Amino acid sequence: MHIQANYSLLNHNSFHVDIKSHYYVEVNKQSDILTLRTDFKLASLPWRVIGDGSNLLFTKDFPGLTLRCTFNKIRLVKEDDENVWLTVGAGVKWHDLVLYTVRQNWWGLENLALIPGSVGAAPVQNIGAYGAEAQDVITRVQTLNLFDGQHREFRNSECLFGYRTSIFKQQYVNRLLVYRVTIRLRKLAHGQANLSYEPLKEALKGIEKDKITPMMVFEQVIRIRQSRIPDPCKQGNAGSFFKNPIVSAEYFQTLHEEYPGLPHHKMLDGSYKIPAAWLIEQCGLKGLSQGYAGVSEQHALVLVNLGGATGSELAELSQMVQETVNHQFGIYLEPEVIIL
Ligand SMILES: Cc1cc2nc3c(=O)[nH]c(=O)nc-3n(C[C@H](O)[C@H](O)[C@H](O)COP(=O)(O)OP(=O)(O)OC[C@H]3O[C@@H](n4cnc5c(N)ncnc54)[C@H](O)[C@@H]3O)c2cc1C
Repeated sequence: MHIQANYSLLNHNSFHVDIKSHYYVEVNKQSDILTLRTDFKLASLPWRVIGDGSNLLFTKDFPGLTLRCTFNKIRLVKEDDENVWLTVGAGVKWHDLVLYTVRQNWWGLENLALIPGSVGAAPVQNIGAYGAEAQDVITRVQTLNLFDGQHREFRNSECLFGYRTSIFKQQYVNRLLVYRVTIRLRKLAHGQANLSYEPLKEALKGIEKDKITPMMVFEQVIRIRQSRIPDPCKQGNAGSFFKNPIVSAEYFQTLHEEYPGLPHHKMLDGSYKIPAAWLIEQCGLKGLSQGYAGVSEQHALVLVNLGGATGSELAELSQMVQETVNHQFGIYLEPEVIIL
C-alpha cells in the first residue's frame, strides 16, 4: 500500500478539476483499513472515499486521507438453469462489467451501458438509466468499516435503495467502504429486453422481441447516449448535474395552466416528475457560460468545464441555474452531483 502526500486528484474526477488531497491511498486488501487506522497521524484526519470521481465536484483541497478501492476481480460464484451470480470488485469499471456480461449473453446490465464510474459506487448511487437501476440486479453489497476494518454484508433489502441514493450514501457515507458487489443476472432464454424507455423501444422496433439480445440493447443504449451526453474525456462533466424535481399534483396543475407544453411523468403517489433539463432550457440557460464553466449546448442538464474551470466556478454556475429556475418556476433543483 502506497500512501501519497499532497496528491492531485486531477485524474480522479470527470470535471477535470485540479485539487489536492493531503494524503491519497489505494486499498486492495481487507486488512489495509486496519493498517491505515493504526497510523496515528492518518487516524486523526478526516477520511473520504472516492471511486472514479464521475459524480463529484471538488471545490477545495481536502485536508485528510482520500481512499480509493481497487479490488478488481469478476467471479462467477453460482449459477442455476435461469440465473448467474457474479461477485465484482469495487474497482472494476462499471462499463467494463456491462460489456463483459452482454458478451456472455446475460440480461440485466445492458440498459446501464456507458455509465462512467466504478462498480463500488453503483450501489452507493443506485445508478440508473433507461428504465433500469442497479438495485434491480444487486443482491449483496460487501463493505469494510473505515473505523475498525470490520466486514459487513448488506442484503438488497438492507441497502435502502432510492432514486440515486442508498444507505451507503446517507447514514454510512465515508464510514463504509464498498469493496465487492454481488449481482444476479438472467440467462439469455430466461430474460428479456427492458424497453420501457421509449427511444430504446423505437430504436429496436421491427425486431421480434424474442430475437433481441442483450448486445443489441447495449449497442443502442451506447448510440443514444453518445448522441446526447458530452463525452467527459473531451469536455469535463459529471452527467446530469441536477435531479429531476418532483412536485405535488396541485402545483403541477398550476404550472401546467401556465405552460401547457410542460413535459411530465405522473408518479404512483399522484405527484409529478418534471425534467430538470426542460426547466433549465425554458430559462434560456442552455449553452450559457460563466468564465470557463458552462451549461452544455448538447444537454441543458449537464454542466461542463470548458477548459480550466475551477470547482468553485462550476459550483457558482450551478447556484445561478438553481436560482434562475427557482425564480421562474418556483422549483428548487437538487444537485445529483456531490459538491465537496
Ligand atoms: C457523462 C456522465 C454520464 C453519467 N450518466 C449517468 C447515468 O446515466 N445514470 C447514473 O446513475 N449516473 C450517471 N452518471 C454519474 C456517475 O457515473 C455515477 O454516479 C457513478 O456511479 C459514479 O461512480 P464513481 O466511481 O465515479 O463514484 P464517485 O463519483 O467517485 O463517488 C460517488 C459517491 O460514491 C461514493 N463511493 C465511491 N466508491 C465507493 C466505494 N467503493 N465505497 C463507498 N463509497 C464509494 C463516494 O464517496 C461518493 O459519495 C454519469 C456521469 C457522467 C460523467
